[in-house]
Amino acid sequence: MRNYLFICIFTLASNLLSNEVKFVDVKELSDSSLEITYKLDKVSYVKSYGLKNPSRIVLEIENSTLKSIKTRPFNFPIKQIRAAQNNKLSKLVIDMYEYVDWEKPTQVKTSDGILLKLVLKRNKKNQKNTRDIVVAIDAGHGGRDPGAVGSNNVLEKDITLLIAKELERTLRDVSGYSPKMIRVGDELVDLNERYLSTRRMGADIFISIHADGFRLSSVKGASVYIWSAKSSSISAENLSKKALASKIGKIAENDFDEDEARVNFPDIYEKKISDSMKLGNEILSELRNDPYTKLHKKNIEYADFRVLKSFDTPSVLIESGFMTNPDDAERLKGKPGRRMIARSIFLGLHNYFKNAPIPDSIFEDNSDYVMYEIQKGDVLSEIAVRFGLTVEAIEVENKLKNKAIYPGQIIKIKI
Ligand SMILES: [Zn+2]
Repeated sequence: MRNYLFICIFTLASNLLSNEVKFVDVKELSDSSLEITYKLDKVSYVKSYGLKNPSRIVLEIENSTLKSIKTRPFNFPIKQIRAAQNNKLSKLVIDMYEYVDWEKPTQVKTSDGILLKLVLKRNKKNQKNTRDIVVAIDAGHGGRDPGAVGSNNVLEKDITLLIAKELERTLRDVSGYSPKMIRVGDELVDLNERYLSTRRMGADIFISIHADGFRLSSVKGASVYIWSAKSSSISAENLSKKALASKIGKIAENDFDEDEARVNFPDIYEKKISDSMKLGNEILSELRNDPYTKLHKKNIEYADFRVLKSFDTPSVLIESGFMTNPDDAERLKGKPGRRMIARSIFLGLHNYFKNAPIPDSIFEDNSDYVMYEIQKGDVLSEIAVRFGLTVEAIEVENKLKNKAIYPGQIIKIKI
């Protein structure tokens, strides 16, 4: 009975603001890609996918109504833009003459509503509609919130940002991924904003990076957490009570209510939890092989960390270590130690997608390799460390023996 009442109240609250979907325009951007914009009343749960024969991109918006179902013809490569309403589900379809590169739609908050933007780019080589996997990277703390203070006076907020940037760099320099940083500098981002931006960015995965402290300086090692309303360990309880707890306070009326969605779409939520568990286990098994890092707990831990509460996006929080432990603080102060954390996250992430490739990503066809673009200043020995390979293995794979590498060159990295 109490649950039923709870759902009723949620449903009532969500109906206060209706969600009308309205087509706005198609714009050509400076790089000649096309941006299709719709207006919504609130940030929404949007499902997006590409289809073949004929080529089209579909957006499905739950709990919304279409302003119009008019079909609009457009110029090449778009054939037409159409829409259909099925109960409370709005379906937007972009029919095309050829296959394109597309980006998962983003939702931008403006003073008079939410702009849902979908970007398409012509790519003559495509045999299907193709898109990058979007990884939201959340560097814990920042600005006036330093996080834990290390026994060597190093601050958690600086360590988390450095690890986040290392991970961003790897994801940016291999094809098929698009990293999006939730904070890019030393700034404080509200905890609600962190997980809410995941949906606005259209992220496929959410990774939060921390290195917290504990009252006992002897406690050390890395751990991986996924969402649960209940904590699985004393240290999680300690951490979540302190700064990360799920009590959300008020979110804006036009923002997305993850708590409500968890109740309304239990199957999607269950899948999110099991996918988060798979992702977390892949990262844990990489951390286990990392020569610098010891594990604090060998299994996934559960906590009500607010940043993990997206109801559908697999989300994990990595505690890189305990800043209050002198060994961990020194390990994370050094680049090699931080690099290993970023490497474990990247390899874990890629192995996760190997088992369950996202449709339309380039890894759907082959995930045993990533293509890495050589950057200015790169040396093979460093690339080898970043991907957990030997220089020899990279040289053999790419026939690089006694050859120089150059910026812009693409090499194969076996994962
Ligand atoms: Zn933290």
